[in-house]
Order: sequence, then structure tokens, then C-alpha cells
Amino acid sequence: MSVFRIGQGFDIHPFSQDPERPLVIGGEILPGPGLDGHSDADLLAHAIADALLGAAGLEDIGHYFPDTEPSTLNANSLEILEKVVEFIKKDGWEICNVDCSVILEKPKLQPYKKGIQERMSNILNAPVTVKGRRAEGLGFVGKGEGAACLVVALISKYE
Ligand SMILES: [Zn+2]
Repeated sequence: MSVFRIGQGFDIHPFSQDPERPLVIGGEILPGPGLDGHSDADLLAHAIADALLGAAGLEDIGHYFPDTEPSTLNANSLEILEKVVEFIKKDGWEICNVDCSVILEKPKLQPYKKGIQERMSNILNAPVTVKGRRAEGLGFVGKGEGAACLVVALISKYE
């Protein structure tokens, strides 16, 4: 019998004051300013990882990759995501699909969307869809203070 589980992921990062810091979303480099964080602050990779961990009934990303850990300082978050995929595959889960909304005021996600989807789909070996949303000037996202990401992930296992 196939068992299905759904997971939700959410992440949020403030924009950095450092003009040199790259903006990394789903492994793509977008025109900055970048987001602040202990790792490369790839909020899409973090939210996907959290959605997958939640779906598999595991602890959250901060449990496995604490932001006090020197080894994850400026880490490539795609490597974190690859490890999460390994964790859940070890438990026998297959990823069905992942759907993501990145909420940021600028830059526009559209020109990067296809590249992000392809890269994420390759890491997850499953369809990944990514939507870009603006916050219409409202709140911290609308004022350009930060960006957020929402993800749902479906996984299955044959038992
Ligand atoms: Zn994050």
C-alpha cells in the first residue's frame, strides 16, 4: 500500500547591508542585494528542506544544520538540501512533487524561474514548480526589508 505524507516549509531572511553579498535563490545568483543569514541564505532551498523533513516526520532544518555551526557558515544550501533528500530516501520516501512561492519585491523572479525549477527538480528527482509573488508594497517584504518563501511537498512510500 502506498502511504502519502504532505509537508509545509516556510523561510524568511532579511536583506543584507553588505552590497557584496550575492542573492541566492534556488542555487541561482540574482542581482543583489543578497539576503542575510548564517549560510548563503538560500531561502528556497531552506523552505524545501523543511517541507521535506516535516513530511517525513523528522526534526526541522535548524536541528540538523544549526546556525551556530561553523561548518555551515556561508554554506551552499544546495548541499544541505541534498543531505535532507538523502535522509528521507534512507527512510524509504520518494518525493512526488514540490510547489513553492517566493515572495519578494525585487528583482523579478521570472527570468530565473526555469533555471531554479530545473536545478531543484534535479536535486529532488521530482517535479518542482516555483512561483514568484510580490507583496504589493505591504509589510516587510513590500518595503524590501526581506523576502519569504512558502513550500508544500508531497512524499510517498510503499509499505
Ligand atoms: Zn533560511
